[in-house]
Formats: sequence, structure tokens, C-alpha cells
Amino acid sequence: MRLLVCLDFDGTLAELDPDPYAVRIHPESEAAIRRLAAIPETEVAVLTGRHIEGIKQVLPQNLPVTLAGSHGAEPGPQLEDQDRAYLDRIEDQLHALATNGAYVEVKPYQRVLHVAKVQNPDTAQAILAAANAIDTQGRPKTQGHNVVEFSAVEVTKGTWLNAYKQAFDRTIFAGDDDTDEHAMAVLTPNDLGIKVGTKPSGATRRVPDVDAMAQLLTQLADEREAWSATR
Ligand SMILES: [Mg+2]
Repeated sequence: MRLLVCLDFDGTLAELDPDPYAVRIHPESEAAIRRLAAIPETEVAVLTGRHIEGIKQVLPQNLPVTLAGSHGAEPGPQLEDQDRAYLDRIEDQLHALATNGAYVEVKPYQRVLHVAKVQNPDTAQAILAAANAIDTQGRPKTQGHNVVEFSAVEVTKGTWLNAYKQAFDRTIFAGDDDTDEHAMAVLTPNDLGIKVGTKPSGATRRVPDVDAMAQLLTQLADEREAWSATR
């Protein structure tokens, strides 16, 4: 039975932090991932909203996982001129809003406005509201923890996972945020969706926090090793 264990990173394998590069993977999750990846017919993927360069900065270099960045858009296709022009226009507008500690993140397929470092919550909300009012010309826009993200491509975690999981008999997916629900939506009754935290979800199982997720991954590694030993 080929198993794919597909995991979000921020808020799932690592605690959320206003400085996204100050976080590290939970050590117990890291150990469980290494065990899982060593078992035959078992693959671990990290499917994150971060761009590939960003996720590489916070993961151990030799972690044996498949990396899918930018919600599954990376690695992916080249952008057209019109896509680049759209991203440039969005970036200019976001820079105009990036005051009081808000900043613009540039990813290959997306531009993201972050407000986690804005001290005053009312100011943060006002900046988010102004960003949400930007004309996207019908292109995807998503709001997450203290961010608004503008994408040049239609890829979601759901489209990526739906394609990738076809090579496996069973998929386990875990995530904490609204963007993870695209991935939850492509799971079948044969699969398992795990929500970390309290946000609304189509997941069949829920754990309260990153610590509990680490315990669950450890339990999964125990069970998968036991399954593998009987074969
Ligand atoms: Mg997350």
C-alpha cells in the first residue's frame, strides 16, 4: 500500500512566528518524518505556501521530503509576459500599502502582503482591507494568517495534491490554514485529512496544535514501521 504523507509547514510542523524565518520544524515531527521516509512505499511531501527558496531556509538540508512550494505552483511552468506584468502591478500597489511594519514578499508566482509585524491591530486590519480592495482582474487572491496573497497562476494546494496523489493508494494530509482546505477537498474516503487548530475544516480528524501534530506523526511512524515489518 503506497502511502503519501503530505504536510503543510507553518502552523502544522512549525509554530507560527511574526518572523517567518525564525521558525524551525518541531524536532519530534522531524524525527517522525525521517522514519516515515525510510519505510518502503512511503513518501513524505511538504506542501507549503512558501516559495521553494523560503521553505529550504527553514528545513534541515537533508530532510528526505518532496518539496512543493507556492501552494504547489513550484516547481512549475514559466510565466507569460502578461503574468509578469500583473505581478509587477500588484507589487507596486502593495508597496504603497506596506507601512507601519507591513512588508511585501516576492515569490516566483505570487506577491504577498504581510501585516504580522504591524503593532496596532486596527492599522493591520485597515492595511489588509486596502489590499483586499485591489483589482485582481479575476486572478486568485487568498487571505491567510496576517497575509493577503495575489497569485498569477490558478494552482492551489488542491490541484497539486490531486495530481500528485494519483501515484499512491492512500494519502494523509495535514494543515492548519484556510488555503489547506483546497487540499482537504481532494481527499477521498480512503484518505485522511488532519486539521491543526480550530479553523473550519473538511478534515476528518483534528489536533489542537503543533505539539499534538508531532505526536500524531510519531504514532503514524510507529504504525507504518509495524506494517512494514509484517511484509
Ligand atoms: Mg500553515
